[in-house]
Amino acid sequence: ASQTAEPREYALERHTLHMGTLINAKLFGATPEAVKHYAIVFEDKVTDYDDLMSVHKDTPLNEVNRRAGEPVEVPCEIADMTKQALAIADETNGAFEPMIGPVVNLWKIGFGGEHVPSDEAIAEAVSKVDRSKVRVWREGGRCMMQIAKGQSIDMGAIAKGFIGQRLSDILKHEGMTRGVLDLGGNIVAVGEKSDGRPWRIGIQHPAESRGGYFAVASVKDESVITSGAYERYFEENGKRYSHILDPKTGRPAKTDISSVTIIDRDGARADALCTALFAMGWDRAEAFLRTHSELKALVMHADMKQAVMTPAAASSVTSADPSVKLT
Ligand code: ADP
Ligand code: MG
Ligand code: MG
Repeated sequence: ASQTAEPREYALERHTLHMGTLINAKLFGATPEAVKHYAIVFEDKVTDYDDLMSVHKDTPLNEVNRRAGEPVEVPCEIADMTKQALAIADETNGAFEPMIGPVVNLWKIGFGGEHVPSDEAIAEAVSKVDRSKVRVWREGGRCMMQIAKGQSIDMGAIAKGFIGQRLSDILKHEGMTRGVLDLGGNIVAVGEKSDGRPWRIGIQHPAESRGGYFAVASVKDESVITSGAYERYFEENGKRYSHILDPKTGRPAKTDISSVTIIDRDGARADALCTALFAMGWDRAEAFLRTHSELKALVMHADMKQAVMTPAAASSVTSADPSVKLT
């Protein structure tokens, strides 16, 4: 075989810890300078988005929550994300609910000190969940938001998908044509592999440790996002409480699904929808998917013996584990 004198492509990997999650990026470029530039842009922007959206920092959304009842100026990107989140809440009939903050803050699942709250406290928190009281508007060139007193916005179910999508868009704008970004299991495939074939992204088996895949998605320029009860939960008196909550009951979603994967060109939408479908449970999720035939979704049943793919997903998902029946 003949040796090529010059490699045609350079690769760099970056691993960082941001937004409470491990972020890995595989970046490719035509020259060493190009790929180094992408790595610098990536690191800068990850830090910017962490400052903008992390739950633990003094962010614009935390200011909206702290000043509930008053109009607050926010970066327009935050206003846009909120509008998209509210639209998906409508579309999923509130299964995905960005105004779920009071309920999330009550249970604190994944933040330490978890406990099962009293019925009164749950009812009180649920009464604050009302997205009709949220306003997002423009005033001159400024973007404004206002929520009602006692309310709290929580973007935990959409933020990583949104940020992954933005990072991908920014890197492409800088000239990067291919790469894979992994935000704690929320994957964005940028472009395609150098041989023109799609990226192959493993889909996590809910009962196996990280990297145990039950299926593989072949994707170009799409996000692959999975929600499940296996990542963050707590146990009390032998009962397991997941971090995905039912906004109507104010309790961890009673679901017969163990994970939902969505493949979509819009990472924010994919993230929000997989949380919604998980919270809906098998029957409602199936009904939702029947009326959204364009969606690429893979729903793993609680028994972990079968997973249902939408027809749109079937062309890009293949089995990687004979113990799970893909139908
Ligand atoms: P992960 O945290 O594993 O990425 P999700 O994307 O499903 O999982 O987001 C879960 C987070 O979203 C929770 O930690 C909480 O902050 C918030 N959340 C919980 N239940 C809901 C819900 N029904 N709708 C919107 N956000 C939710
Ligand atoms: Mg989500
Ligand atoms: Mg998520």
